[in-house]
Amino acid sequence: MTLIPTRIELARPLPPLTYLAPEGLPPGVRVRVKVRNSAATGIVLGADSAPPPKLKAIDSVMDPFPLLPPHLRELLEFAGRYYGCGVAHLMALCLPQGVLADWETDLGDGQKLSDLRDLGAWERLRLLGEAWHRGETRLPSLFHRRNMRGAGLTEVRRTDRPHPLKVSALQAKVLAALEEAGGAMLEADLIQAATVSASVLGTLERHGLVERVKRLDLLAQRREDVIHKRVELNEEQLHATDSVVLGTFATYLLYGVTGSGKTEVYLELAERVLAAGKRVLWLVPEIGLTPRLLARLEGRFPGLVAVGHAGLNATEKQADVMRLLQDECPIFVGVRNAVLAPLRDVGLILVDEEQEGSYKSEEHPRIHARDLAIKRAQLEGCPVILGSATPSLESWHAAQVGRYRLLRLRERPAGSSLPKVEVVDLRDCYKTQRKKVIFSPLLLQAMGRTLERGEQAMLLLNRRGFENYWMCRACGKTLECPHCDISLTYHKGAYRLRCHLCGFETAPPEACPSCQSEHLRGVGEGTEQIEDQLQALFPHARILRLDRDTTSRRGALEAGLLAAEHGEVDILVGTQMLAKGHTFPKLTLVGIINADQGLKIADFRAAERTFHLLTQVAGRAGRAELAGTVILQTYSPDHPAIIHAVAQNFEGFAQEELPYREGMHYPPYAALSLYRAEADSPLEAMDALKKLRSRLETVPGVRILGPLEAPVPRIKDRYRMQLLLKASNRGPLSQAMQAAPLPPGGAITLDRDPLNFGG
Ligand code: ADP
Ligand code: ZN
Ligand code: ZN
Repeated sequence: MTLIPTRIELARPLPPLTYLAPEGLPPGVRVRVKVRNSAATGIVLGADSAPPPKLKAIDSVMDPFPLLPPHLRELLEFAGRYYGCGVAHLMALCLPQGVLADWETDLGDGQKLSDLRDLGAWERLRLLGEAWHRGETRLPSLFHRRNMRGAGLTEVRRTDRPHPLKVSALQAKVLAALEEAGGAMLEADLIQAATVSASVLGTLERHGLVERVKRLDLLAQRREDVIHKRVELNEEQLHATDSVVLGTFATYLLYGVTGSGKTEVYLELAERVLAAGKRVLWLVPEIGLTPRLLARLEGRFPGLVAVGHAGLNATEKQADVMRLLQDECPIFVGVRNAVLAPLRDVGLILVDEEQEGSYKSEEHPRIHARDLAIKRAQLEGCPVILGSATPSLESWHAAQVGRYRLLRLRERPAGSSLPKVEVVDLRDCYKTQRKKVIFSPLLLQAMGRTLERGEQAMLLLNRRGFENYWMCRACGKTLECPHCDISLTYHKGAYRLRCHLCGFETAPPEACPSCQSEHLRGVGEGTEQIEDQLQALFPHARILRLDRDTTSRRGALEAGLLAAEHGEVDILVGTQMLAKGHTFPKLTLVGIINADQGLKIADFRAAERTFHLLTQVAGRAGRAELAGTVILQTYSPDHPAIIHAVAQNFEGFAQEELPYREGMHYPPYAALSLYRAEADSPLEAMDALKKLRSRLETVPGVRILGPLEAPVPRIKDRYRMQLLLKASNRGPLSQAMQAAPLPPGGAITLDRDPLNFGG
């Protein structure tokens, strides 16, 4: 076998490296190599025509052919160029390293994959791979499943086969238990319920009376029942569904308030796509909070749904990806990175709650799943549907100018009405009470009445901890993190002052570290304090606090929400975590402690984000049979975001906000690139950006702002500066990337279409 210089990229902050590798290895194949004496996985880019001297050979070839479907490889290449990151970094998001091909796989003609490898027949392997991706060749044992034991849960299901006249007593017990459970049960539960051994199940399976299915997707959702309800679509829903042209690329914006039946539209379209033999990629902002959706999906498409769960352990994730690669599940539901799932023949992409910030990655590679979903749909030649009750202004604008097709749902088929919103002007409260008010009289009264009726209340404050910061009354200094330019937050339960950026913590000092005065004072309340005060105000209420501090354990948030759903909680207190997901049948009062909180952040999207959060939280009240009330406390009742959130009027908000964006040349009327530099000194960071600036100044159509200090100038002892690029569209920003490529691992990183300006 001839070895030739081959460019190989690693998922590390390094430029591509050149190794000796078998001639003819196609791009996209993974290989094992050594870098500085440690083993790493790399992706073949192609032959190197100008190789450096003294090359090492690769250790081994991992894949017989590229495992990602061709359209997905194109997508990765596009994303690599667009976001300025190597394909290997993106590959790591869609193909876990543990996914290994089994070279002993039999090709059917007595030959094995390893024979072709040993012959160096890469061209034949490539053709084989292409046939496999087209579904023409099946290689059932292509992947190692050896280490997969224990992954997922086994479910036992009753088959359609008629019940025979004679079964053994033990078998009868199993069938009866299954019948009682509605036809399906987890294996472990069934064995316990019927008090039989697994061998009885084996016998029943051989007779075709039951089947055993591995269900990875049930891991997080095992408490939820599968929902079998099937609805008749109303006229609006049918119109929306029929407007989507399958088999060609177009972007649709499905706009309708929560409860207007968007999910039913998705389900109907998914069914049509599956019937046409294609597959469905279904993106959700957060999977742990969507048990109801998964239960509906499972009810409609039993056994056909794979779930990319962020909380799954590594083995489970691998199992999931293998199911996709082996073509076992035509529907894949997942969060952000699922947009890169190795699903082939995609016929429909759904992006639910498309406005959610969680679709954008805040770490390298900083992809935006919604934007990539659109690109993927274009490559696959299929429709993509962005759904929302409060679309992002980007998507709304695109629909207004006709780039996206707007589909609307105006009714609420299940009939529940929008909650009533009451505004409390906190300035008036201050005037009458002459002190800062956390709970206005109106809110307290409403809470009292809600609890008396045995209903639930939810209070939102988007700040955790007990007190926001401590200051010294003598010298006026604030206690700050020694490693970051930010104040420390007081956590009373833990008796610690903590930095929310770097995790630094310390025992609260007795005296001011600067002037030794003992007059330290806590300022600004957080969820922990709200909980404390509520407990004093309503001593008999069962209060549950949900924020990052109380939900750091895996599954804690889900468990808490479930308890609330089952009525085991009277008052829910928490941060924006509460805004999404579960429906609480008994929740009739939502209190927003301080609606202005998010407005003060220096970010042009502050108003939009506040509007989204407030409407979302408000929507939590009275979704079921009971009517709901929202009490919104604010110091700025005249702010457009507040006014329109109170009226739950998205279009009104968009109409007011868009001209402001246009005037300021912000998205959706402009494209942005944010270059961030981090260094050990502010000067170093500044220098790096100044050099970059001078190279960018020649790029036509680009406006450069900065370099400036980042909003938080220092985190973890690293100094941060930034440079913002603006252009009327994305083209010049791509040119800028070519004009000044950033060396991997350098001081500067690029954030295209940045979403977060606060940090
Ligand atoms: P969305 O996704 O917009 O929040 P859903 O699709 O979840 O809305 O619908 C909200 C509720 O209304 C669900 O319980 C759903 O089953 C029900 N529903 C939706 N469409 C219909 C319909 N055409 N007829 C009866 N009930 C419906
Ligand atoms: Zn002091
Ligand atoms: Zn810190």
